[in-house]
Amino acid sequence: MVAVNLSEGDRIAGGIFDACAARAEAEPRRRYLGMSQVGRQCALRLWLELYADVPRRVEGRMARVFDMGHSVEARVIGDLRLVYAVDGEQEEFSDFGGRFMGHCDGIVHGVTSRPHVLEVKSANRTSFEMFRRKGIAGRAEYAAQVQCYMGYSGLERALFVVESKDNQDLYVERVRFDRKAFEALRARAWSILTARVPPPRDRSGGDCRFCPAAGLCEGIEEGAPACGTCARFVPEEALRERGVRIEGDLCVLRKAPASRAGRCEEHEPLA
Ligand code: SF4
Ligand code: SF4
Repeated sequence: MVAVNLSEGDRIAGGIFDACAARAEAEPRRRYLGMSQVGRQCALRLWLELYADVPRRVEGRMARVFDMGHSVEARVIGDLRLVYAVDGEQEEFSDFGGRFMGHCDGIVHGVTSRPHVLEVKSANRTSFEMFRRKGIAGRAEYAAQVQCYMGYSGLERALFVVESKDNQDLYVERVRFDRKAFEALRARAWSILTARVPPPRDRSGGDCRFCPAAGLCEGIEEGAPACGTCARFVPEEALRERGVRIEGDLCVLRKAPASRAGRCEEHEPLA
């Protein structure tokens, strides 16, 4: 019998995990609110991810889990093509000057006479069973995501496909466009993007699990002076309205980018 050197194997796996974590951490920080996120219940999480210096520590194994989502997507699209036509992969939707964005997995033709926006997910056993019981409504952020894609694409149907990570079973649901829900999500996105002070936290929807802003969230004091409440602060949306082409908010005192979640000693309260 050949002895297996587990410690050496663990060391090699650890090196791979470290490399995956470093690759994930090196990805540029997103400056927009994602349509895949806007349905999260905690508005504070979304705001902090946009405006605060949220640490980007990524565990190597989790980075591999996220990557697996891309390979599942490619395989499901390949299998869908055995039956239907699929185009428009990674079609981009954008609003508010590119500050609210999303990319659908494709557009499927032939399911009915109408084209369907495609969204593919993978799920562990527990989540897969939940989708069987509750459908897409069981995950608010997925339901919001497909409503945004339908709203911005002008297509009124979506195909939601979930692959089981355990046995490659498929859960498939057709979703109808809900204009009221779409308008409410669009309004929510705008209110988060333009909030000068931290919006309320909400711990009820499970967003705290894996929240990258958890460490900062505890330190948020309501009403504490911050750039967003300073007379010297000019938000990006106001700069755009004046035709100034700049990425991000501005501190006119320092003539430098400012983060509305930051602050300095020279904070001057808004009149
Ligand atoms: S830790 Fe929870 S309450 Fe705090 S920002 Fe994250 S999701 Fe919101
Ligand atoms: S850096 Fe200071 S002066 Fe500038 S906007 Fe922030 S609090 Fe105001």
